[in-house]
Formats: sequence, structure tokens, C-alpha cells
Amino acid sequence: MSDETTDAPGPVTMLATPIGLDFDFTPGIAQSKFLRGLEQGKFLGQRCPVCGKVYVPSRGSCPTDGVPTTEDVELSNVGTVTTYCVVNVPFAGQSIEIPYICAQILLDGANLSFMGLLQEIPTDQIRMGMRVEAVWVEPDQLTPSLASVRYFRPVDEPDADYETYKEYL
Ligand SMILES: [Zn+2]
Repeated sequence: MSDETTDAPGPVTMLATPIGLDFDFTPGIAQSKFLRGLEQGKFLGQRCPVCGKVYVPSRGSCPTDGVPTTEDVELSNVGTVTTYCVVNVPFAGQSIEIPYICAQILLDGANLSFMGLLQEIPTDQIRMGMRVEAVWVEPDQLTPSLASVRYFRPVDEPDADYETYKEYL
């Protein structure tokens, strides 16, 4: 007689359990303007009346001068890659095929960079200073969220001079 129970399941080592968290985000006046801009297919920022820096998205005040940023500024659709990373590691919930590039992008006229997905370029050709433009979703798909920007892609321009973006790394 044998104790072998070849059909018996082994110990449970992993359990996939769907989990979610619903929350409401209240953006406030300044970020609402940014989000409404995305809904119209444009980047809206705000300028500090003291130092003149343009923040996009704006938090409603200048962190340097501590004053409200009340002047609305429409930014260019084109910017510069200040720094980047190539994502090679798969993770749960990943919606983009690896490898892909996440880049910090400084829009022309802005003094604050933000993160964007970069596409239409092999990952071994990305470089600091590369000029890129936003590719938006179709007009009827625009929403007040960054999902309105599908990704950024290179434009046929010479790379930006390091001196022009070195303060935004
Ligand atoms: Zn300022």
C-alpha cells in the first residue's frame, strides 16, 4: 500500500484577488484649469507675478515666492526631454508593452517639467534634450485628465542645448 496521492493538490502558494479603491479627487481652482485645458486639447499653466516662472500644472501659488499664481498661460504642444527612464520590468496591471520610455518633459515656455510617455522611437535612441510633441486623443475622446494625451513623440528639430534645461533635471 502506498501513501502517494498524486492527484491531491499541493499547498496554496498564491492567490489572485481583485482589489480596488474608489476615491474622489478635488483638484481645486488651479488644477481644475489645467484639467479643463486638457479637455480642450491644450496645456494650461499659470505664471508667478513675482518671479515670472510658469507652472504647469499649477498648484495655485508659487513655491518660491508664496504668492498666488493668477495669470493663466497656454503652453506649447512641444517640449524638451530633460531626463527619462526605460521601463523593462513587467508589473501587474501593466497596460503598455515593454520596453517603453517615461520622460520628464519641459514644455516650451514652462518652468516645471512633468512625466509623459514617449512613443514612436526605439528605446535606444532616446536622449536628454530631445524635442518632442504631445499626441492627443481624438477630439471626441478628450476628457479633463492626462488620458487626453496619448503620448509624446519626437519632432524633427535639433536637440535643445543642455544649458536651456539643466535646471529642470
Ligand atoms: Zn515666483
